[in-house]
Amino acid sequence: MIIDCHGHYTTAPRQHEGWRGEQIEAHKAGKPPPRRPKITDDEIRESIEAGQLKVQRERGTDLTIFSPRAAGMGHHLGDATTSEAWASACNELIHRVCTLFPKNFIGVAMLPQSARVSPKNCIPEIDRCVNEYGFVGVNLNPDPSGGHWQDPPFGDRYWYPVYEKMVEHDIPAMIHVSASCNPTHHTTGAHYLNGDTAGFNQLMNSSVFKDFPTIKFIIPHGGGAVPYHWGRYRGLAQDAKLGLLSDLMLKNVFFDTCVYHLPGQELLAKVIPVDNILFASEMIGAVRGIDPETGHHYDDTKRYIDQLPLSAADKAKIFEGNARRVYGRLSATIEKQSAR
Ligand SMILES: [Zn+2]
Repeated sequence: MIIDCHGHYTTAPRQHEGWRGEQIEAHKAGKPPPRRPKITDDEIRESIEAGQLKVQRERGTDLTIFSPRAAGMGHHLGDATTSEAWASACNELIHRVCTLFPKNFIGVAMLPQSARVSPKNCIPEIDRCVNEYGFVGVNLNPDPSGGHWQDPPFGDRYWYPVYEKMVEHDIPAMIHVSASCNPTHHTTGAHYLNGDTAGFNQLMNSSVFKDFPTIKFIIPHGGGAVPYHWGRYRGLAQDAKLGLLSDLMLKNVFFDTCVYHLPGQELLAKVIPVDNILFASEMIGAVRGIDPETGHHYDDTKRYIDQLPLSAADKAKIFEGNARRVYGRLSATIEKQSAR
């Protein structure tokens, strides 16, 4: 089985994001939001069959761990109330996709975060998504301000209510920022990779893994700058007397394979142990074009892993085994959803 641990619903029916625009406009005008739009099952089916499902079939992958569009989370817009309503609408739509295509998609929640609002307010949505929707993880945004970094780092107890819930439900968090509202930081070209790198570094300089020995984080986009600069982080850990970086991080931190060229994928597999790498493509996402050097889509990351000089057993870990281990509820959810 090939499990893509990082996919977003970037093709949602247009009225969904349309409502979001109206919601934010209403909030600015001090008015209540309009009623949520009607979205039919057929509209959802169409958006998936012509999009993510088609790509799964073309590329030979089986299951996508699926969450709302990341840049659309927009935690910097509106306030805690608008974030709650929007997260709820987005997660409900993911649940509908997973219900219509139970063999192909399993849900991960976006959280109703807002800059400088305690992440405690995310707890009801986490409970709801796990208990009612059967979701297996969350996306946690280290910078709900959208590029201005106004919240404390991940090591601060500010975040601990979310960590407690993650451990209680046995769900990992993918560290994932949303859109940048700071023009110096392009959303997918800089802000995403900065979020990945900063999140890793914040955890490294914290006691989170001492306080939560079983907690798990996935750093997407190949780990941002981390694998390429592994020597820097090893040295920083050593200078700060934190011990060996691998001992410090690799029981709790995992890297996805959203690196859009073979040399990057080779580096990831060389630097990071096979047990800490999870297959992902982030389709249909940030980079949608075809690489003229290969004639294939940049985000067809399965091709790069197929070409790595690894044993079949190691590739099976990357494609399936590690995801089942990191997402503690995944295997049971696969069984449950495929029985439908
Ligand atoms: Zn993503």
